[in-house]
Amino acid sequence: MPTLDANATDFDLIILGGGPAGYSAAIKGSLQGFRVALVEQGRIGGACINRGCIPTKALWGTAVALQRLKDLKAHGIKSSGKFSFDFAVASKRQFEIMDEMVSTIRARMIKLGVRIFSARGTISKHDPTSKAANFTVALESDDKTAHSLTSRFVLVATGSRPAESPVLIADHKLVVTTDDIVLFEKLPKRLAIVGGGVVACEFASILNKFGVKVHLLEHSSQVLSAMDQEVVSKLMEYFDEDGVKVLTNTKVQILAKLRSGIKLTLDTNGTHSDLTVDCVLLAIGRKPNSEHLGLETVGAQVSPRGHILVDEKNETRCRGLYAAGDVVGGQTLAHKAWYDAIIALRAMSGEECRTNYDTVPGAIFTIPEMAAVGLQPDQARQRGLKVSIGKFEYAENAQAMCTGKIRGMVKAVIERDTGKVVGCTILGHDASNLISEVALAMHAGLTAKDIGDTIHPHPTLSEMVWESFLDTQGLSVHKK
Ligand SMILES: Cc1cc2nc3c(=O)[nH]c(=O)nc-3n(C[C@H](O)[C@H](O)[C@H](O)COP(=O)(O)OP(=O)(O)OC[C@H]3O[C@@H](n4cnc5c(N)ncnc54)[C@H](O)[C@@H]3O)c2cc1C
Repeated sequence: MPTLDANATDFDLIILGGGPAGYSAAIKGSLQGFRVALVEQGRIGGACINRGCIPTKALWGTAVALQRLKDLKAHGIKSSGKFSFDFAVASKRQFEIMDEMVSTIRARMIKLGVRIFSARGTISKHDPTSKAANFTVALESDDKTAHSLTSRFVLVATGSRPAESPVLIADHKLVVTTDDIVLFEKLPKRLAIVGGGVVACEFASILNKFGVKVHLLEHSSQVLSAMDQEVVSKLMEYFDEDGVKVLTNTKVQILAKLRSGIKLTLDTNGTHSDLTVDCVLLAIGRKPNSEHLGLETVGAQVSPRGHILVDEKNETRCRGLYAAGDVVGGQTLAHKAWYDAIIALRAMSGEECRTNYDTVPGAIFTIPEMAAVGLQPDQARQRGLKVSIGKFEYAENAQAMCTGKIRGMVKAVIERDTGKVVGCTILGHDASNLISEVALAMHAGLTAKDIGDTIHPHPTLSEMVWESFLDTQGLSVHKK
């Protein structure tokens, strides 16, 4: 571990941004012997811990607990009293989890010798002729004390922020972004969610369990368009049963603020209707934080959508300047950001490495959950692969029946000729954990036979992964 003078200003690596990409790079960097400075303008943990993954999943945990209470009747469990739900307590719990995670990560970095600067960083100079200190980074902190640091490498991990459209602009009270809604201490009674992606579906499902009347408004013909549509249709059936109203092919044309609430004029396939709600949540994507970083000064380039252009080692067009996480685009996921950072760190230490996103799993924390890795059948066919598909329903699985979690299915995809695992989508209880087995199988280049030959414990949900891959060859044991 490197030892650093408390007043040091020269480092091996300066990281801009302390989210998943930035903090994981700081930890990895100091473990590999780099003198690391991490510059964060807000709170350590970035969007993930402070406005994204963790606050939403803390609320998701509460929603799952509420659902469990509703399911108790089937087990013969009755409570003599009435259950009540106090959102303020759930919200306090959410903030406690966030605080604990921030302080654990901060403490880990400090223990490893990472110098943390609370400031906004901009790359102000690059001297390619100097081997030791190529980069100068200017710091601007709240107290306006300008300061500068130098280093051999810089990693830009400045993340992303909620996108807005010219028609839909957040006022952060009635029209809010995901950054706002995770800080709510009181729930709206009626909510319209604009967008049909992962984040929109998660909020729809969680807030529905809290008793909020939710309308989800998607302008295209499909929600979760990047996912297997057979499985998504099943999730939409559950949304319908639970009372989440999903309107596809729907554009929000006008927003009119009323004395109490807000009126939306909708255009659904040319038919106009009005919807009055207390609040509108914009969940229409993310915008990379690539502006005002000094990238142009050093010759790094960005795409028309603002993502920093990097090669397979996550190095920009400027040698020694790397970028990772949401700011380089691709899947906006915390674990993809960790992965990006690790590749960049390996490249900095001279290791031969390149990014490969074929096995990045994704999880959607609706109730029930959905998770996927690899290619869906259509995507595989588009790449010229001949595929076989296997399916297994939660209602056919022993543990799912015993626990009463029978909503959902597993859909496995393999390459027909070789049996190689190509992808998998899971909808149902614990999908976010079950998907890791398939990600590992894909990473290791395994086949359906390898999964079929692996002994899975009984009775467990993991048997469904086994059964679905056996089913790709018609060999499932417990399929109805
Ligand atoms: C509602 C929501 C739910 C989500 N749920 C999940 C989930 O369940 N699972 C999952 O994998 N992903 C989830 N995500 C996505 C995940 O949060 C992001 O992919 C992840 O945070 C990206 O990490 P990052 O390090 O690239 O950037 P960020 O987390 O955005 O961090 C970037 C940091 O850089 C700082 N910064 C910016 N500019 C500067 C500068 N010039 N100087 C210093 N600091 C700067 C910012 O303050 C920020 O702290 C969710 C996102 C949202 C919005």
